[in-house]
Amino acid sequence: MRWGIRERRLREALVEIGARLYARGLVSANDGNFSVRLDERRILITPRGRSKGHLRPEDLVVIDREGRVIQPGRGMAMPSSEWPMHVEAYRQRPDAGAVLHAHPPFTVALTVAGVPFPSEVLPEVVMTVGKVPTARLAVPSSEDDALAIREWIREHDAVLLPHHGVVTVGRTVEEAWVILERIEYAAKVYLLSRMLGEARPLPPEFLAALATSG
Ligand SMILES: [Zn+2]
Repeated sequence: MRWGIRERRLREALVEIGARLYARGLVSANDGNFSVRLDERRILITPRGRSKGHLRPEDLVVIDREGRVIQPGRGMAMPSSEWPMHVEAYRQRPDAGAVLHAHPPFTVALTVAGVPFPSEVLPEVVMTVGKVPTARLAVPSSEDDALAIREWIREHDAVLLPHHGVVTVGRTVEEAWVILERIEYAAKVYLLSRMLGEARPLPPEFLAALATSG
């Protein structure tokens, strides 16, 4: 297959993110899906039903903004069944170049327990990620799942999907990855601190200092 330099780089970046997500246990089995915007019309997305830990650049699928397949992946691979959520994210966020969706266990555990995301316990989270809303419950891979993120993804770079996972957007794959990794780290620290005792939010005066330090 012949790709331009940019498309090749983006394909390789997605393959690398898949290996990272899988190695870090942020996706298991065939879970998770991620995409990049190739241009105004085309989106490059992971294939359906495959482990994201062992992808090759030619496995990725090119779809249009309506989810129609422009170019299947190797072996006629179809796009991730969660493509409507990706299309919706790009529709709401013209600034987004990449969308990541994973099932990070500590983050998912928060939503299963009905605990809101702890946005005020770690300075780096306050300063970079901020508040992370939880969407309403929706069936994964459905049109409804895409609708459920609509109102949130417009104003936030990350949204939790209850009993399911998280979706993040960034100008680049790397940006979306950093947000996802921070969210999972914060969820993990929060759980560990609750096991040790109380999970104390940062004091208001410290939060105010952070707000002016930027
Ligand atoms: Zn999912």
